[in-house]
Amino acid sequence: MENIYEKYNVKKVINASGKMTILGGSRVSSEVLESMNSGAANFFEVKDLLDKTGEYISELLNVESAYIVASASSGIAQSIASTITGDNLYEILNIHNKNNKKREIILPKGHNVDYGTPVQVAVEMGGGVVVEAGYANACKVEHVESLINENTAALLYIKSHHCVQKGIVSIKDYVALGKKYDLPVIIDAAAEEDLNVYYNEGADCVIYSGTKALEGPTSALVIGKKEFIKTLKNQSKGIGRVMKVGKENILGLTKAIELYVNKNKLTLDEQRERLKDFNGVLNGIDGITSTCVQDAAGRAIIRALISFDEDKLNINALEIAEKLKTGDVRIYTRDYRANEGKIEIDIRDLSDEELEFILIRIREIVGK
Ligand SMILES: *Cc1c(COP(=O)(O)O)cnc(C)c1O
Repeated sequence: MENIYEKYNVKKVINASGKMTILGGSRVSSEVLESMNSGAANFFEVKDLLDKTGEYISELLNVESAYIVASASSGIAQSIASTITGDNLYEILNIHNKNNKKREIILPKGHNVDYGTPVQVAVEMGGGVVVEAGYANACKVEHVESLINENTAALLYIKSHHCVQKGIVSIKDYVALGKKYDLPVIIDAAAEEDLNVYYNEGADCVIYSGTKALEGPTSALVIGKKEFIKTLKNQSKGIGRVMKVGKENILGLTKAIELYVNKNKLTLDEQRERLKDFNGVLNGIDGITSTCVQDAAGRAIIRALISFDEDKLNINALEIAEKLKTGDVRIYTRDYRANEGKIEIDIRDLSDEELEFILIRIREIVGK
């Protein structure tokens, strides 16, 4: 095989940060690659392919309807557009038609996050206007309810580790509000692992990125109520075309979902076991402590949380993370808490050799 790293002079990357879009999301399995190959090498009636793979996935997941789009961001834009245009072709073709005032999208303020781009950008692409409900750390049912008016088109909820986790209305109550006012509820669950829970709680539309938990190609899965997905498919006549998904990725994601639902995921204990030696070595270094922690948003992910004592090491966590990232082989760690002196190691995309190599680099950097 050609050596891509040499040919284009790009750096090798070890991904200890999780499913990061800037690193390309996931590593896809050979089975997924095989499906992508058949997709790329053959022709299909793409609309038919989308319909039939959607049906296949909806049966796998036991949901009313499923549909593959280009990315979770495009899933947000198109689902928002659907709530504004309905099946009206004029509105679909004139998504930003100023005469249509019914385009307010209510979003808890603590959910208007930046996942690489602000949620708001995707909403506005779909013709929506974000109306933030509540405050950074508090969004109650009554905050949301007080904003609902004749121009409200949908209620949007972001289920993510990026969001404020406390003091925000529950999905159950959010869905109940949607029912009460006959408003669609859209949930962006891009990086979440459970493909049923939000749908089962009654959301009209739930969006999952293809490259995160599902370990598929660049793409996304949208599941939801039949009527909602039918309207969403209609967006392909409008903004959907600006963000179309390729046949190879349609087939790749379908395969990835099939593998995902049949896969035995590592239990929390098995994940802890994988980190045992790694943590043991680090804990032997004066000034470093490393423990297992579960994902802050409650997903079934165990990571190593490494604390660096700056006084003892003469270097702080931010500097260590930066050095790991700028070596000959780029090591990306999870740095959300680096300013507190801690970095996290996400093992989902690490081989045993890579985990070893991270240890070697940390020891080099701290000089022990
Ligand atoms: C990653 C992410 C997205 C975007 O997913 P893409 O498939 O890369 O477009 C949207 N929302 C949240 C909360 C995310 O974490």
